Amino acid sequence: MSDPNELTVLNPATEETVATVPAASEEDVAAAVARAVRAQRTWAAVAPADRARLLRRFADVVDARTEELAQLEVREAGHTLGTARWEAGNARDLLLYAAGGAERLLGRQIPAPGGWDVTFHEPLGVVGVIAPWNFPMPIAAWGSFPALAAGNAVVLKPAEATPLTALRLAALALEAGLPEHLFQVLPGYGTTAGRALVDHPDVAKIVFTGSTRTGREVMERCARLVKPVTLELGGKSPNVVFADADLTAALDPFSFLDNSGQDCCARTRVLVQESVLDEARALLADALAAVVVGDPADEKTQMGPLISARQRERVRSYVPDDAPALRGGAPDGPGFWFPPTVLTGERHDSRAAREEIFGPVAVLLPFTDEQDAVRLANDTPYGLSGSIWTRDVGRALRVSQAVRAGNLSVNSHSSVRYWTPFGGFKQSGLGRELGPDALTAFTATKNVFISTEGPAQ
Ligand code: NAD
Repeated sequence: MSDPNELTVLNPATEETVATVPAASEEDVAAAVARAVRAQRTWAAVAPADRARLLRRFADVVDARTEELAQLEVREAGHTLGTARWEAGNARDLLLYAAGGAERLLGRQIPAPGGWDVTFHEPLGVVGVIAPWNFPMPIAAWGSFPALAAGNAVVLKPAEATPLTALRLAALALEAGLPEHLFQVLPGYGTTAGRALVDHPDVAKIVFTGSTRTGREVMERCARLVKPVTLELGGKSPNVVFADADLTAALDPFSFLDNSGQDCCARTRVLVQESVLDEARALLADALAAVVVGDPADEKTQMGPLISARQRERVRSYVPDDAPALRGGAPDGPGFWFPPTVLTGERHDSRAAREEIFGPVAVLLPFTDEQDAVRLANDTPYGLSGSIWTRDVGRALRVSQAVRAGNLSVNSHSSVRYWTPFGGFKQSGLGRELGPDALTAFTATKNVFISTEGPAQ
């Protein structure tokens, strides 16, 4: 049984306790929001150039601590060092990018008879950010930093399993000189602290990243207060590989093994044109066998453990021992290990092919032609990400237009850049984060008409 007043952070590679931290109660959330309301009023009055300068100073402090933050992420989340260093760098880079946005929140001047009409992007107030455990640092950053740059205060609730890097970021913000209580991190349980944040009338917006099931509840609760919400939810993304593609690049197993498959953009439906299916199977078998799974703190490791015993049980439920599959290796002993796996005997409507597994497991499925590929790619309630591999430019364009997903890559498996918009179609989410418009998602547009009529003659 978990203690309602405390969170225990386990190292997923050793099962040892890394830290215990107090879990916020409903009263703690209310007190934090009250402090944030006051801090936001002061922050919104700071000139945009000064806000930008403070956020750049915050970026400098994060930059000086990237290795420390990365090591902490390795311990609390089991991420490989390479991934964790990327995450800390991503938080720093987003701070710099968002800082520039503070000075570019431009309104418009719209022609109107009898006067001047101008628009303003005003901060919303206090923004609540609820983050998952799979990429604790970047996801905390994506929700929080553009919101701060736009003049809001932020109360962030990290996931139960991974509060440590978020707490460290909040401490670094203070060290950099950001006002007290402007960026508060409240570790706690979803059903207490998370719900309290969502339900609080002084929280003007919720940015939620997590499962589609919880996202639906968050949206319902926000609806009661007509509170805007950004939802970044689950995925079951396709990797569409045509016969003319560079098969080795297309079938890079890290398209679904990155972060042990605990990646909302993981390309876990490997759709391969049937004429090259045998070749694809052979390539994947060799690639899986070569994946180095082990101690995430070792520079040579390519894949670490899953986050928890519970997550490993969940993943295992999709992979019966006798399932036809290609498998790589994984360590024995303590740690939540699961081997890289490609299921080869699934139908496209089977459970493993339809549900988000959130582990190092993909399904290999054949398609016949372009039309069949698009039909299979779209036959999912999700629409977050996906890759399209072909040397035929016309086909690449047609398929990228036809696939209903928010983040596609052609002849590449990349998904996320802090300077391009990110978010899902269908049940993968609502709204967009990152990119040039990230700040406006944390503002309300105000229109002011100023009459130029003189006194009646
Ligand atoms: P989750 O939904 O269980 O939890 C996410 C967060 O919500 C946690 O902080 C949790 O404490 C909180 N929470 C739980 N119940 C709540 C409630 N009733 N009210 C308010 N908050 C509540 O998800 P998870 O298991 O931590 O994360 C994995 C999921 O996140 C996967 O489905 C994955 O695809 C998704 N994800 C999506 C993106 C994206 O950008 N689209 C990115 C990363 C992860």
